[in-house]
Amino acid sequence: MEQTTSIKHRITGLLESAIAKKGIVLYVLQHYAGMYEVRMHLPEARMDAWNRPQHIKFKVAAGKYRDYTAAIWDEHTKSCSIYIDTAHEGPGSEWVRKLQPGQQLVYLGMDSYGKPPADCSTHVFLGDPSAIGHFFALMQLTNGLGNITGNIIVSNPQYRADFSQAFPSLSIGTLGTTAEAESFIAGCSQRGDKQFYLAGNSYMVHGLRKMLKQQGVAAHQVQAQGFWK
Ligand SMILES: Cc1cc2nc3c(=O)[nH]c(=O)nc-3n(C[C@H](O)[C@H](O)[C@H](O)COP(=O)(O)OP(=O)(O)OC[C@H]3O[C@@H](n4cnc5c(N)ncnc54)[C@H](O)[C@@H]3O)c2cc1C
Repeated sequence: MEQTTSIKHRITGLLESAIAKKGIVLYVLQHYAGMYEVRMHLPEARMDAWNRPQHIKFKVAAGKYRDYTAAIWDEHTKSCSIYIDTAHEGPGSEWVRKLQPGQQLVYLGMDSYGKPPADCSTHVFLGDPSAIGHFFALMQLTNGLGNITGNIIVSNPQYRADFSQAFPSLSIGTLGTTAEAESFIAGCSQRGDKQFYLAGNSYMVHGLRKMLKQQGVAAHQVQAQGFWK
C-alpha cells in the first residue's frame, strides 16, 4: 500500500514537472473569518484572451490540486485574484491560510467553463461563498452591459453581515437558506430578459436549477456550475 502511494506520488511529480507553470503571490487579504483573497502575478497567462470565467488548478499540497476561479484580472500586469472560502477544513483551506507575499505558486493549467455571459438586460447571480470569484469574473466580462442582481447564500449570520461589508462592489445581497432563494427566484424570474448564473455546492446548484425550471425559466437562460460536494 505504502509502495503504491509512493509510486503514485513519483508519477504525479514527473507529470507536474513536465507541465507545471509558476506564479507569485503579490498579497493575501482576509476579507472576513472564512474568506481569503490571493492576488497573484501569472507571467505565462494569456489574460487578453479570457472571454469566460477561468479556473486554475493549483498545487495545494504534495500530490493535491484544487481549482480556483480567476477574478479581477489585469492583462497588462498579468495579475488576478482568487477568492477562497475556507469555512471548512481541507488541503485547499490549509494552503491559502499559509500563503505569504513573494511565495511561489504552482499550477497545472487553466481552463474555462460555461459560455461567455449572455447579452441581456439583467444578470442574476446565485451561489455560495465559493462562487464570489466566479461572480467577479462574470461582472468583469459583462463590462457594465446589463444590470447585476442576485444573492450569495450564507447560513452563518455573522458571515452574511461580513460579506455585505466586504464586497459592496459586487452589488448582490445575501440570503440565509435555499428556501429564501426560492422566494427570491419566484419574485424575479418572470420579469424582463434575464440570464441566471448558479455556482457553488453541487447539490445547492442542482436545487436552484430545479426551482428556476419550476418557475418557468427556460434552460437557455441558466448557466450552472457545481464546484464542490
Ligand atoms: C471549476 C471550479 C472552480 C472553483 N472555484 C472556486 C473558487 O473560486 N473559490 C473557492 O473557494 N472554491 C472554488 N472551487 C472549489 C475548490 O476547488 C475546492 O473544492 C474547495 O476549496 C474545497 O477544497 P479543500 O481542499 O479546502 O476541501 P476538500 O478536502 O475538497 O473538502 C473537505 C470537506 O469540506 C467540504 N467543503 C468543500 N468546500 C466547501 C465550502 N466552500 N464550504 C463548505 N464546505 C466545503 C467538502 O464537502 C468536504 O466534506 C472550485 C471548484 C471547481 C471545480
